[in-house]
Amino acid sequence: MTSLKNKLIKNFIAGILACILIFSILITLFVTIKYSDLLKVVDDKKPNLISEWFIRLNNDENITTDMMWDYLEDLAYQQNVNIKYFDDRGNLVKYVRKMDDSYSGEINRKYYNIFNPVKKTEAGRIVVEYSTDSTTVNRLHDDFTQAVSYSIILSLIVGSVIAVILSMNISEPIIKINDFTIKMKEGIYENMGSDDSDIKEIQNLHDNINFLSKSLARQEEIRKKYAQDISHELRTPLTNLKLSIEALGDGMMPLNEETIQSLDLEINRLQSLIEGLKNSFNESVANDKLNLEEVNISDLLNGILQGFYGNFLNRNILITKDICDEVYMITDRTKFLQIIQNLLTNAIKAIDRDGHIDVCLVETSKNIIVKITDNGIGIDEDLIPMIFERFYRIDDSRNTKTNGVGLGLSISKNFMEALNGKIDVKSKKNVGTSFSLSFDK
Ligand code: ADP
Repeated sequence: MTSLKNKLIKNFIAGILACILIFSILITLFVTIKYSDLLKVVDDKKPNLISEWFIRLNNDENITTDMMWDYLEDLAYQQNVNIKYFDDRGNLVKYVRKMDDSYSGEINRKYYNIFNPVKKTEAGRIVVEYSTDSTTVNRLHDDFTQAVSYSIILSLIVGSVIAVILSMNISEPIIKINDFTIKMKEGIYENMGSDDSDIKEIQNLHDNINFLSKSLARQEEIRKKYAQDISHELRTPLTNLKLSIEALGDGMMPLNEETIQSLDLEINRLQSLIEGLKNSFNESVANDKLNLEEVNISDLLNGILQGFYGNFLNRNILITKDICDEVYMITDRTKFLQIIQNLLTNAIKAIDRDGHIDVCLVETSKNIIVKITDNGIGIDEDLIPMIFERFYRIDDSRNTKTNGVGLGLSISKNFMEALNGKIDVKSKKNVGTSFSLSFDK
């Protein structure tokens, strides 16, 4: 297996190579075809030019043979060709050798028959020898090929450097995320920091992993606290029971009505703790058969509030209600009751003394909403998401005093989910809290 950086570099370079290859093949093909045509045209013109001048000079009576050959020699030199002149019997009369001696390539020849000016008799023929190589055009062609080769090499070097930089840009944040997830695997949950990437997907991945790490850290903390809390909560009634039974056995404690009541109280506390724990787990609620029936919610709410009346009175809590009459809903009466009782108990704990609780029940065309609002101590904004977690208690003087176990809201939330409802909370520290339960119709 290769690393992401190497893979990206290899892929980028392969891409660049492929582009350069296609580019060079196309350009070479194009140039070769075009240039060879051009070469042919240029080279083919040379012997024609020589023959034209030969005929023109030969036919001019004012020009002597020597003058004619002087001129043709110059022309042959300029055009880099050899001229052979044969008389009408085939004897070589003149040989002008002006082709580059160093030329070792193929020599092309063109033959021209020469007639006398009166065109009656053949005066012989000339042969023009010429090369198709090492012409200016050909050199241009070579230079061009060289230039293309240099640019290919240069492009490859520049492309490779860009490929390395690009690959590093892309791979570095992913490598960082990868290192971070390895740490997470080992149970080290730290903050990855706000490393801004301009690639949307990488930035999302970064944010999501950061979020995951934070929530795992929180879960880990809750798990530890959960284990501590559960053992602590179970230990107290168990120790009380153990001590009482020992005292009974030693005859230090009389077995009377009062003792039996106190033992019963501890057992009840244990039982409700275990029941609460069971109810706070989703699975147990789902497995529990819901006892669904049509319930008059208005009556049920009024009844529950009636049950709290003494408590409200003792603590000087004013209760206001806005409960619509005759609101019916298919629900589990016991679970609904327990949710409301939990919320009211919490509201009372949040107020302690001298406050106000408002209970409201509204029915709309789409849903049924119950709202319980108090003007108690309120909840810190950043603690709100935690209050539904098992055993989560806000560490304040009120909780130490009221000694809740932090299961009420997690049970309420699970019951709400089982009843296909939604629980929401709005709260402001030192102002109050409002819980709202909403059930789709
Ligand atoms: P507990 O049984 O300890 O009250 P809950 O799960 O019912 O546990 O509540 C969790 C925490 O949420 C409590 O410790 C309390 O601090 C906070 N809380 C719940 N309801 C209210 C409220 N109405 N006002 C202020 N804080 C509240």
